[in-house]
Amino acid sequence: MTGLPGRPELLIRGADLVTMDPALGDRRGADLHVRDGEIVAVGSGLEAPAAQVIDAAGMVGLPGLVETHWHLWGTIFRGLVQDPREESWFVLKERHGNDFRPEDTYQSVRLGLAEALFSGVTTVHNYAHNTLSPEDADANLRAHAELGVRARFSYGTPTPATWLGQAEAEEVMRRLGHPLDRLMDFDDLDRLARTWFADEGGLLSLGVAIRGPSRTPAHVYEAEWAEARRRRLPITMHCAGTRGEVARIRQVQILERAGLLGPDVQLVHCNHVDAGERAAMAASGTHLASTPMAELRLGMGFPQLQEMEEVGVLVSLGFDSNAMGGSADMFQVMRLTLDAEHARTLDVSLTSRRILQMATLDGARDLGLDHLVGSLTPGKRADLILVRTDRLHLAPYADPVLLLVHSATAADVDTVLVDGRVLKRGGRLTAVDADAVVREAAAAQRRVLARYRG
Ligand SMILES: [Zn+2]
Repeated sequence: MTGLPGRPELLIRGADLVTMDPALGDRRGADLHVRDGEIVAVGSGLEAPAAQVIDAAGMVGLPGLVETHWHLWGTIFRGLVQDPREESWFVLKERHGNDFRPEDTYQSVRLGLAEALFSGVTTVHNYAHNTLSPEDADANLRAHAELGVRARFSYGTPTPATWLGQAEAEEVMRRLGHPLDRLMDFDDLDRLARTWFADEGGLLSLGVAIRGPSRTPAHVYEAEWAEARRRRLPITMHCAGTRGEVARIRQVQILERAGLLGPDVQLVHCNHVDAGERAAMAASGTHLASTPMAELRLGMGFPQLQEMEEVGVLVSLGFDSNAMGGSADMFQVMRLTLDAEHARTLDVSLTSRRILQMATLDGARDLGLDHLVGSLTPGKRADLILVRTDRLHLAPYADPVLLLVHSATAADVDTVLVDGRVLKRGGRLTAVDADAVVREAAAAQRRVLARYRG
C-alpha cells in the first residue's frame, strides 16, 4: 500500500462526455478541468497552463458509477457460492460469518473496493451486516480509508437466511450469538462516528442497516429506527425480496402504518411489493436499491423498475455481493437490468440512458450525495471515469451511451478519478498493489474456511 495520491490540477482533453447533467448534455471531443478535486469547467478549448493533461481522445468520459447496496465483507466468498440452496450465499454466510476475524473482514472489503475502483465504481454503499465487534467495524473502515472510494458505511447485524421460518430463524441466530431480540450496538456506532466520520469533507458517511419487521420484534426495530433518526442517520433494510417473505409478512405496510417510511429510508429488492406498497413508498419518498444481478442469480424474482418509475420511486442499482453475482461490473449490471426489464414487461420503453442515470446520478441521489457527485457538473467533486472505445468488442464506436450499457466491461475503464485523485490510469490501479490484494484475500478465504468445525 502506497497511500492515497494527491489531487493534481488536471485537464482532460478531447473526451466524449456523457455528463448526466441536462443543462450540459453530451459533449463530443470536450475538455474538463479539475482543480483541488473539483470539476471547475467543462467545454471546448479550455486553457489550464498549470494542469497535467490527460489525452482522452477516443474515450468516453462519464461520472463515476455509483453503487448502492453491497455486502463487502462477503467478497472472499467468491468462487464458493453454488446454485443449490445447501451451498448458496445464505448458507455460507451463516456457516462462516462468525469465523471472520478483523483481518479477514479487512481483506474482503479491500478486495471489493479495489475491484470497484478497477471497474469505474467510485461510490459504494457498504451494507455491513456481519459487524461482529468494534474491531471488525474498524477493519471495514480501515479498508475504506486506504482505498479512497467514496462510500456510505451502514452498520448492521447478522441476519438469518430468507427462507427460514421465524422460529427456526430465532433459534439459528441465538445459537450464532446474534439474537433477534437484541438491539444493534449503537454505542459502538457512536464511537465509529467520532473516530472515522468526523471529517466533514471526507469520503465516508455513516448509515444504519436494520433487520426490520421481517425478523425482529417491533420493540427492536422501532427502537433501532428511533436511534437512527435521533442521530439523523439514513436507514437501509432488505425488503420483499422473495415470495416467501411477502407470504409471511408485508413489511412495507407495517413500516407505513408505524410512520417509519421516509426519504431517509432505502429499501433493498422490493421485487414482490404490490401497487399499494409502491404508492406508500412513493408518497413517503422512500428509495429503492435494486440488485438485479443477485436477485436473478438467487431466483428471487424480477425487479419492478417500470412500476416504480411510474409512481416516482427513486431507483438505483447495487451489486448485493460480487461473490454471488460474480463480479463488481456495473456495466454488466446495467445490461442485465435493462434486458431483464424488457423481457419481463414485453416492452422496451425503459431506455439505456435511463439505466445509466440509475447507475450514476440517481445512485448519488439515493445516498444523498448528488450535490457532490453523480454528474459532470462544474462545482461538483471530480469523481469521473474514462472508458476506451477502440477495442474489438466495442467497435465500431458511434453512440457513447450504447457503448457503455451494451458493450463495455469493467476492463475497458482506462482512468478513474475519485475526489480528484487519479486511482486508475492506463488500465492499472495506481495506489493499490492489485497482486497483493488478490493474494492476501485468497489467504483470508483459506483461513476462514479452515476455522469451520461443522
Ligand atoms: Zn443484500
